[in-house]
Amino acid sequence: MTDEPMHVAVLGTGIMGLPMARRLADAGHRVSAWNRTLNKAEPLREYGVRVAESPADAVTDADVVITMLTDADAVGAVMEQAADSLSDGVVWVQMSTVGEPGWRALARFADEHDITFVDAPVLGTRKPAEDGTLKVLASGPDDALKRSQPVLEVLGTVVGGLGAAGTGSRLKLAANSWVLALTDATAAAIALLQGFGLDGELFLRAIEGSASDTEYAQLKGRAMLAGNYSPSFPAAGAAKDAQLIAAAARSLELDTQLIDALAGHFDTAVEAGHGGDDMAAVFVAHAPQQSG
Ligand code: NAP
Repeated sequence: MTDEPMHVAVLGTGIMGLPMARRLADAGHRVSAWNRTLNKAEPLREYGVRVAESPADAVTDADVVITMLTDADAVGAVMEQAADSLSDGVVWVQMSTVGEPGWRALARFADEHDITFVDAPVLGTRKPAEDGTLKVLASGPDDALKRSQPVLEVLGTVVGGLGAAGTGSRLKLAANSWVLALTDATAAAIALLQGFGLDGELFLRAIEGSASDTEYAQLKGRAMLAGNYSPSFPAAGAAKDAQLIAAAARSLELDTQLIDALAGHFDTAVEAGHGGDDMAAVFVAHAPQQSG
């Protein structure tokens, strides 16, 4: 139970926003939640969350507003609807993955509307969101970070010391470039073994416990072997992030061969009908015969 209950509005109750809103209510915060498709927010009522009819309704009297929506356009559109109903002194904690132009546009919007803006994307998928073990990459003004701390610490570990808004989004792009590459590389190794007519699980057994092993490779690799693509991080989200990373790398005049290849593979998974499935479905880009 938090010592400092606050009124928190959560805009967007998809895969991530829903468990985040539930955790905040469980921790003793007063939570209002809104989702475009309203019935997706309904299950939150049983945890004491007020399900709001509109973004404006959700944010009225809120101390902290969290946005957890698909992309910067969605966040901007929803905040347009909420802006006139925000309280003085509210802290807007933007947690969606929006990339470089995205955070800049949203920070500009906040500035124009005199809203205190915290740029705080997260590392971790559905399970860490449920368990409160996300890594929160919070960047922004010190006093706003301090005010939102009782909320953010319920969601996971706040990676401190990032400085001004924008650092969180940049760190998120760097971390996701690693996660996308790791998942795609796991798919490539399993597909190669299967190409040889061998059991793809041999790869996971070979790296298990070694310096190159990761829990993530084991988790995603097992999902690929089972063809179980129940979504934690949908392939469409991975494809979107790959484009954000590629655009950032291009603007910095960095080499983009790796991220372009990753983007191509995630796009292939989406085009094969796996957009709503987990990113592990990138496996179908390596082994098209498995795409069913
Ligand atoms: P999700 O389940 O697909 O939810 C997306 C949310 O955005 C839904 O609430 C959806 O509303 C809403 N939305 C989309 N377009 C909208 C619009 N134009 N206007 C209003 N609402 C709109 O996605 P998620 O996995 O929770 O991800 C949310 C954000 O967190 C994304 O930026 C994602 O990249 C990031 N993220 C995800 C993960 C993960 O593992 N899933 C991890 C870290 C960060 P409807 O329900 O009406 O469609």
